[in-house]
Amino acid sequence: MIYLDYNATTPLAPEARDAMLPYLGRLFGNPSSIHAAGRMARAAIDDARDRMAKILEARPHEIIFTGGGTESDNLGVIGLARQRKADGNHLVTCVTEHHAIIHAFEYLEAGENFRITWLPVDHCGAISLEDLKAALTPETTLVSVMSANNETGTLQPVSGIAAICRERGILYHCDMVQSFGKLPLDVATAGPDAISISAHKFNGPKGTGLLWLRAGVPIRNILHGGFHENERRPGTENIAGIVGMTVAAELSMAGIESARQRQEALRCQLWDGIRSAFPEAWINGHPTLRLANTLNVTFPGIDGESLLINLDLEGIGASSGAACMVGSIQPSHVLLAMGVEPEHAKSSIRFSIGKQTTEEEIVETIEKLPRIFERLKK
Ligand code: PLP
Repeated sequence: MIYLDYNATTPLAPEARDAMLPYLGRLFGNPSSIHAAGRMARAAIDDARDRMAKILEARPHEIIFTGGGTESDNLGVIGLARQRKADGNHLVTCVTEHHAIIHAFEYLEAGENFRITWLPVDHCGAISLEDLKAALTPETTLVSVMSANNETGTLQPVSGIAAICRERGILYHCDMVQSFGKLPLDVATAGPDAISISAHKFNGPKGTGLLWLRAGVPIRNILHGGFHENERRPGTENIAGIVGMTVAAELSMAGIESARQRQEALRCQLWDGIRSAFPEAWINGHPTLRLANTLNVTFPGIDGESLLINLDLEGIGASSGAACMVGSIQPSHVLLAMGVEPEHAKSSIRFSIGKQTTEEEIVETIEKLPRIFERLKK
């Protein structure tokens, strides 16, 4: 199969799997136990935390290991909003966020009496800093805007958002699930106060992630239990997952610039092939401020779901955007927010390239396109 859906998930790096295996076997101890088996498990987590902190240029205790991007987003948004509720009940986010953010904010609005401002985006998918400034009130305590959109790859102005929030003493949480491992990150200077990351997006294991939380920023737990993760996230740690994520993060960061250049070249090659097979097609997203690997294309007159099925029949895996929306006939909320007509949103699909994508795969995909479009147009 030609897999072109790396924004949905990525294969586990063999190096990460090898590092995980001992913790799925003989090193099975509970890190909270005081005996030797427990101490070995604790040492593995401490080591992973130190290494992850080094990658992020953070301090080890700023890292809260979680069960993935969704949990990190929920902890970042709900935990920080609740913690600061005495200071104000107004929160700001953006209409094109992932559902892990959108549904967390909707929950706070419906269930906990918070007021939410949903920032619009322009036709490229970016927010305006002027809109952000205009939305902020003395009651605003938290802003959450992602770094890179999972459907279009459009980048948001993270450092500009951070500067505006910092000036006003407002916390800034950023969902970096799609950009981590694709763009360099140094948390101390990036600007946000909290950052969500998910391992399976950068060749780490599924069900593992972290929330980086700037030192000194208090947070309210959203899970209740023991005293793990400096009393911020209870639950016996997923040691194998944490170890695998750390190795995958090290690998991603080591090859970040060469991977970006290679993926950009492959994306341009794919787009050239698409354009010659289907000249009416267009790209959704920002022309330059974007992830190198993501190509969201509208094929006017073609039903997106049928196109995905036909690509699949030819052995090519792409996506209609957010993976969790597959099977739903709803057009993408991201494209609609960018002003794409509903019928065009339903004619749009996302190709996302990864470290394992080869030029041969792109060439083969391009070769198959004319036949697929011929069939669909009939
Ligand atoms: N945020 C973004 C931008 C994503 O793309 C995803 C996954 O698609 C998530 C959050 C959720 O991450 P996870 O699958 O680890 O829960």
